[in-house]
Amino acid sequence: MLGQMMEQQLLISNIIDHAARYHGDTEIVSVNTDGSQHRTNYRQVHTRAKKLGSALEKRGLTRSDRVATIAWNNHRHFELYYGVSGAGFVCHTVNPRLFPEQLVYILTHAEDKIVFFDKTFVPIVAGVLDKVPHIKHWVLMEPRDEALAAEHEWMEFYEEFLEEGDDDYQWPQDLDERDASSLCYTSGTTGNPKGVLYSHRSTLLHAMMSATPDVMNFSARDCLLPVVPMFHVNAWGSPYAAALAGAKIVMPGPGLDGESLAKLFNQEKVTIAAGVPTIWAGLIQYLEASDTKLPHMQRTIIGGSACPPVMIDKFRDDYGVEVLHAWGMTEMSPLGSVNNLKNKQLDLAEEEQKEIRLNQGRPSFGMELAIFDEDFKQLPNDGVTQGDLHCRGPWVLSEYFLAEKGTTLKNGWFDTGDVATIDEDGFMTIKDRSKDIIKSGGEWISTVELENIAVGHPEVTAAAAIAAKHEKWDERPVILAVKAENSSLTEEDLINYYDGKIIKWQTPDKVIFVDELPIGATGKILKRELRLEYENVLMEK
Ligand code: ADP
Repeated sequence: MLGQMMEQQLLISNIIDHAARYHGDTEIVSVNTDGSQHRTNYRQVHTRAKKLGSALEKRGLTRSDRVATIAWNNHRHFELYYGVSGAGFVCHTVNPRLFPEQLVYILTHAEDKIVFFDKTFVPIVAGVLDKVPHIKHWVLMEPRDEALAAEHEWMEFYEEFLEEGDDDYQWPQDLDERDASSLCYTSGTTGNPKGVLYSHRSTLLHAMMSATPDVMNFSARDCLLPVVPMFHVNAWGSPYAAALAGAKIVMPGPGLDGESLAKLFNQEKVTIAAGVPTIWAGLIQYLEASDTKLPHMQRTIIGGSACPPVMIDKFRDDYGVEVLHAWGMTEMSPLGSVNNLKNKQLDLAEEEQKEIRLNQGRPSFGMELAIFDEDFKQLPNDGVTQGDLHCRGPWVLSEYFLAEKGTTLKNGWFDTGDVATIDEDGFMTIKDRSKDIIKSGGEWISTVELENIAVGHPEVTAAAAIAAKHEKWDERPVILAVKAENSSLTEEDLINYYDGKIIKWQTPDKVIFVDELPIGATGKILKRELRLEYENVLMEK
C-alpha cells in the first residue's frame, strides 16, 4: 500500500468538538422568548449538546430517528442542532409559520419521535397534539414552569430532560458521514411540503465552503447574527459555518423588528448578518426614522428573494455595510451562488462594479450551474440567453425525503424552477421563478426587474409584479404596490417612473396600490395569492 492520509468521517459533531477545543470561551449570546438575554460559549454548548444526545439515547431513540424543533434562533436550538445530529439522530426543523394542517402533515410524514418547542409556540403545539398521536414526547425549551406543567400534563421541560443525560457521554463512533443529519421541508406554496434530508457530509462540505472569503466569509474575528430563522434551511447553514470558523454568534430570538435588531447589532458589535429582504426593509425603516448607525457591521448576506438594488445602495452609502447578494434553495442546503467581485473587476469604474454587484453572484467550488431550454439543450453562458436553471453538486439533493427513486433529477441535474442568465464569468441573474415570469406575446418579462424598479421609487415601500391575463398578449404585467406613509403617489406617476429604466413594451399596464402584500412562512411575497386575486384585472375592462 502506498502511504496515504488519515481516514476521518466528516461529522457535524466534529464542528462543535473543534469549536469547544479551540474557541471554548467564544460567546453565544441569545435572546429568550421573554426578551431577556442569555450568554453561553462553545465549551458549554458542547457539554450540553452531548448531554442532550445522551438523554435522547436513553429515551430509546435509534439511529436516524427524527427529532423535531419548533423554535426561534436561540442557544437551546443551537444545542439541539449539535446534540441531535451528533448523537446520530436527525434534527428536523419545523417552520412554525405554516398552517396547522401543514404542520400535522410534516410531523406525520417525518415520523418525528419527539418535539422540542419554544414558549411562543405552546398554542400551536397544543392545537396539533391530538392529530399526531405517534409523537410521545413534547419538550418545552425552558426550565420547569409549574404553571404550564399544571395546565398541560403532557409537557416536559428541556432543563430536566437534559439532566437525564450522562456527563461523560461520547458521540457514537460508528457514524458514517453519509448518514442523515437533518431534515427541512420546502415551504410548499403549491401542494404538500417536500422534505430535504441532509447528510453529515453534505452539511460539512457546505459549511466549509460557506466560510470561505468569496462565499459568506466567516472568521474567528467575526460576530454573526443570523436573522434568517434556524427553521429556514438551517439558517442557511450559518450555525455550522460560523462555528467551524470560531465566530461569535448572536441569536435574536423572536425580536426580528428593526429596533430590536439594530440594538442587538450595536450592543454585541455584530460584524455580519444574514436574512431575507423583507427583514432588512424593516431594519432600514427603523434606522432612518431613529437616525441610528451601524458602526460595527461590515457585511450582510441577503437572499431568499431578489435583493432590490436600492437596498444594496442604502446599506453601502448610508451605513457602510457591504451586501453579499446570495441565491439558493432548501434543496441546495441552501447556497448556490454569492456575489463577490473577481480580481480583474477591481479596476472597473465604480458604476460598472455596482452593476455587477446587483446579480445573484457566482457558484463556489462544489456547485455547478447550467441553463437549459425546453428540450434540455444546454444554453450558452453569454449573460443574455435565458433558460431553466439547473444545478448539481455534493450539497444538492438527489431525491426528496421518502420520494420514489428516480423522480427528482433529470440527467443528474436538479431543476431549480428558476429562469436565469449566466455570463462567461459565472455570474448568474435570476429573472424569475418559472411560474411567476410574465409571458407577454411570446416574450418574457422579468417580475424581479419590474419590482426592483418600483421599490427604487422613494415613495414605494414594497411591490410585487404579477402576470395578469390579457386578451391580446396572453399576459401583461400588473404591479401591486404599497405606498410610503402620507405619499400621494398616483398610478400614472409610478408608470411614468419606468420611462427609460426598462424597454417600453415591458412597462406595467396597471398599478394597484394596496395596504400590504401577503407574506409567506419564509418571509417571501406570496405571488400565487396575488395572482388569484388580481389576474383578471385587465380582462374586466
Ligand atoms: P429558501 O427556503 O431557501 O428560501 P426556497 O426553496 O423556499 O428556499 O426558495 C428558493 C427560491 O427562492 C429560489 O428558487 C428562488 O426562486 C428564490 N430565491 C432565493 N434567493 C434569491 C435571490 N437572491 N434572488 C432571487 N430569487 C431568489
